[in-house]
Amino acid sequence: MSRSASAPSSRRLVAILVLFVVLAAALTYEAWEADHDHRYAAQQTLKDYAALAAWEYNSSTKEALYPNLMWVFGPVKSETSLPPSAKLPEPMVILRKEALEKLCKGDKPPFAFRIDARTREATFAGNAPDARIQRWIRDTVLVELQHYRMDYSYLTVTGTVDGRHLVVLFQVKWSTDDTPAAAYGTEFCLASFQVGALARVMQKYPMLPPSLTANHANDSLLSVIVKDEQGREVFRSPVQYPPTFTGTHTLQAFGYSTTVALNPRIAPQLVIGGLPPSRLPLLVGLFGMTSLLLFIGIVQLRRESELARLRSDFIASVSHELRTPLAQMRMFAETLRLGRIRNEEERERSLTIIDQESRRLAHLVENVLLFSRSERQAPRLSPRDVALANELRETVQAFTPIAEARRVTVELELEEDARAFVDPAVLRQVTLNLLDNAVKYGPDGQVVRLTLAAARHGRGAVISVEDEGPGIPTADRERIWLPYFRLRRDVDSAVAGSGIGLAVVRDLVERQGGSVWVESATPRGSRFVVELPGAGTPDGPRAGRTSDATVGAA
Ligand code: ADP
Repeated sequence: MSRSASAPSSRRLVAILVLFVVLAAALTYEAWEADHDHRYAAQQTLKDYAALAAWEYNSSTKEALYPNLMWVFGPVKSETSLPPSAKLPEPMVILRKEALEKLCKGDKPPFAFRIDARTREATFAGNAPDARIQRWIRDTVLVELQHYRMDYSYLTVTGTVDGRHLVVLFQVKWSTDDTPAAAYGTEFCLASFQVGALARVMQKYPMLPPSLTANHANDSLLSVIVKDEQGREVFRSPVQYPPTFTGTHTLQAFGYSTTVALNPRIAPQLVIGGLPPSRLPLLVGLFGMTSLLLFIGIVQLRRESELARLRSDFIASVSHELRTPLAQMRMFAETLRLGRIRNEEERERSLTIIDQESRRLAHLVENVLLFSRSERQAPRLSPRDVALANELRETVQAFTPIAEARRVTVELELEEDARAFVDPAVLRQVTLNLLDNAVKYGPDGQVVRLTLAAARHGRGAVISVEDEGPGIPTADRERIWLPYFRLRRDVDSAVAGSGIGLAVVRDLVERQGGSVWVESATPRGSRFVVELPGAGTPDGPRAGRTSDATVGAA
């Protein structure tokens, strides 16, 4: 995959994914709006039911009041009309003792009035109001008299005079010539007069269609609060519900308004399917998950393209690493073939270089094979209990030509009795990789120290390779073990490398149950340490387990 082609295509993919999220956001918004509208419609319906119940309540109260009022106005009812010349009864005729009790139980006694339709004279009795109120009542009632019809049971007029709110009820006493003789009226004491009636209505009259409420008692369906025109509370039903779904209706004639609050639990009975629960948390959750998936997708995409880039870099650097020894070998083989050798010493040198480069090639190819195999499947290993000193000596011997080319001395410090449970081929490949790096990244003529010691605690052994090179910065001591990783200072240098040597080392060592790390050497350079388990070590491979060896020799 070419770098220039992959970048725009992955950018295109990211753009598509971002568009996908925008689309998901738009769909979430649409769903939220539909959900919101649905909830709003259901809520409005419930509020309408509450308003309907308030209206029903007021109508029922009016109906319940009617017999009482008829009784109060009994003495002046229309059937008892007077001859035009007859004397008008006194105003107190409507405020009999029982009427007073019915009307204003406990309140300060109201007044009664009579307004002569012909003389327009007003007569007040009982607890008469001041002159301005008397005048207002007289004028207002006289105006209303002009529209009063014989079939009216009573009329109410309301108004505020000098800060006093008045609800006045009156009935007309008719003359035998069918003209109004006089209006008889009184003040309406809402508080005391109605409380009983209001409570009775709450108990007895259905306020919502029984087909929907299955005839449940009003108290379990709704609560009621009645207020007069000044906002003073007159009545409150004993059970009260939160004001979630409320509706109000005002009864102008009696100067009070009723507010009904529905019991939220009856919502499913009134609205099909009930009040839908808000889908907002679900929608937000779904959108959040979509965004999270998208984010993971983009991260994955970036990783993939980074991996593709690293692979192409890897192929380029492996080819480069292969080309150099091949060119050397070809050149010296050619020199030998054409007989251009001047003496025995030159012949020996050419052969040494061919040998050295072919070893390096074999080593490199082995690394690449191990690495690509480990990416696909675990290499099969044949660990056994090995005396390490001899194995290491042989490996260093095989490595000597490469070290000599850079005038590097490999010093050995080996504990003869150190043993480990390891595949010898793995041990060779690991040691060679570490020695090769020490020579590659250290200076010409340096001393590379290879030490072997038995593990201090328990069985197993510790091998370390120490060089005099630039060392590994602390921040990079974990990353150097990752496939394809090379230190920045080496990426553009002449030192060829593909970044897989240490990844192969860690993979092989860990598969053997060991561990590997790097630390600073003194006075300079780095020390790579490999810890290998012994036979029978609890966390190491079990002794006696064998399988086909697939790790080749260098
Ligand atoms: P390669 O040597 O092919 O680049 P490795 O996986 O063997 O890949 O090493 C990874 C990187 O770690 C090297 O590119 C180099 O930057 C750094 N490194 C490894 N060994 C040494 C060392 N002995 N001294 C300094 N740097 C080293």
